Amino acid sequence: MSRIIAIANQKGGVAKTTTAINLGAGVAAQGKRVLLIDLDPQGNATTGSGIDKLEAETGVYDVLTESAGIGSVKVQSPAAGYDIVTANQHLAGAEVELVGIDGREAILKRALERVTDDYDFVLIDCPPALSLLTINGLTAAKYVIIPMQCEYYALEGLSDLVDTIKRIKSYMNPTLEIGGLVRTMFDGRNSLSQQVSEQLDAHFGDKLFETVIPRNVRVAEAPSHGLPVLIYDKMSKGALAYQSLSAEFLTRFT
Ligand code: ADP
Ligand code: MG
Repeated sequence: MSRIIAIANQKGGVAKTTTAINLGAGVAAQGKRVLLIDLDPQGNATTGSGIDKLEAETGVYDVLTESAGIGSVKVQSPAAGYDIVTANQHLAGAEVELVGIDGREAILKRALERVTDDYDFVLIDCPPALSLLTINGLTAAKYVIIPMQCEYYALEGLSDLVDTIKRIKSYMNPTLEIGGLVRTMFDGRNSLSQQVSEQLDAHFGDKLFETVIPRNVRVAEAPSHGLPVLIYDKMSKGALAYQSLSAEFLTRFT
């Protein structure tokens, strides 16, 4: 049975996609069967996995509109070691098309039930909004991983996300849990980052992954080559950090 983990934070630019791609690659490198679902109409997880989103004819849009199953739309990332269900701009329309459909928040959940024996882990890269797409991700998942940049407004947004998770837990998905928080793009020279990091530690304790992902230019360059940084430059600080996060992830979720 696959473990389904949503990577979510309604803030944009906090490294959700980067974390999804590199956890996917890191866990796949350990011999696990991984499926990545790109739930963001921007399709950054798709391009960052080496797939041209303009050429990806079918993808998660077809799954959500129930015109295709995951098994028939998934493709293999050329280098990352996992399968991916791609996204493109069509997906933005799905939000509107699904209004009025019964059980619209659980479409992805139902679709994943049919491939549960094919993967050890399913990672869902959520868009930067608490939208119907994100709700589909959180309804399908058992755990949520929250990437966070350690800055003042990060904490403000976090309480909205935690409230949303609680609501989804009570109405739709009683076993949903926060699987962990990851500090991303960390700059240790910045004292505010240090303070926010300490507050996260005080508040979330064990939920906080020990690995801290540093700001590193190689991480930012990798997507333009369609590669996880773990493959683009595996000795870079960013890659080593994501490798360590993948190891922690495997200890936590297996
Ligand atoms: P999100 O999916 O939350 O919107 P992304 O993963 O797309 O965030 O990251 C936002 C931007 O920051 C991207 O350009 C990405 O390449 C860059 N980035 C992510 N992590 C790092 C890092 N550790 N160091 C430097 N740049 C990073
Ligand atoms: Mg993203």
